[in-house]
Amino acid sequence: MRKPLVAGNWKMNGSRDAAQDLIAGIRRGFEAGVSADVAICPPFVYLTQVGGLLDGSDIALGGQNVSQHESGAYTGEVAPAMLADVGCEYVILGHSERRSYYGEDDALVADKVVAAHAAGLKPILCVGETLDQREADRTEAVVASQLDALLNSAEGLAALKTGVIAYEPVWAIGTGKTASPQQAQDMHAFIRQRVAAKDAELGAKIRILYGGSVKGNNAAELFAMADIDGGLIGGASLQVDEFLTICQAAQ
Ligand code: PEP
Repeated sequence: MRKPLVAGNWKMNGSRDAAQDLIAGIRRGFEAGVSADVAICPPFVYLTQVGGLLDGSDIALGGQNVSQHESGAYTGEVAPAMLADVGCEYVILGHSERRSYYGEDDALVADKVVAAHAAGLKPILCVGETLDQREADRTEAVVASQLDALLNSAEGLAALKTGVIAYEPVWAIGTGKTASPQQAQDMHAFIRQRVAAKDAELGAKIRILYGGSVKGNNAAELFAMADIDGGLIGGASLQVDEFLTICQAAQ
């Protein structure tokens, strides 16, 4: 039985005050009981503050990106061990915004996933197709190549064993367009089969999150699908009530 996970990706939003209010509201809501695993991924500069605000709760902390390097002369970068050092359990990698705005390709994302795993973090590997790729009937091919960058190496496979996959169709991220539960389920089943073809035990066990305009009013129907094990939530993770409704839908 896979335990659902809901991860909130704050992206480049927030402030010290906003973080304080958001975490206080989420913690109050958790008193009513949430049985899914939950993680909050704020911008780097707020990790320590948010980690402190989460102390004593079951809510985990995560980063939104990390360097593929261990340490050294990489101005502006953050090393995997640094995320672990400030209390992160998870790190989002290969988000479509990193792939499209910062030119992160499958090989670089795979290096980051392996480096994160080596530092004891649980990578959340994001995969997903653009609208053009879907319309050209290339969805499965694109997602397969994003997965294969990890599945085809021993270190990649080992890193996925502690990780999570997030299927996020790019056309659904921040657009208000959500994949239908069946569209999402079809891709989740495809991803699970592809992982299982390399490692049957991992295929059965790995959590596959859906991301792309998940809101309080559509989470339950998505999470009810057999291969959807929770969500990676952008915009709605910045609103206490929406985020709590989504967490409660992932039981
Ligand atoms: C995301 O950033 O991963 C995401 C899914 O964003 P949104 O929920 O806003 O579509």
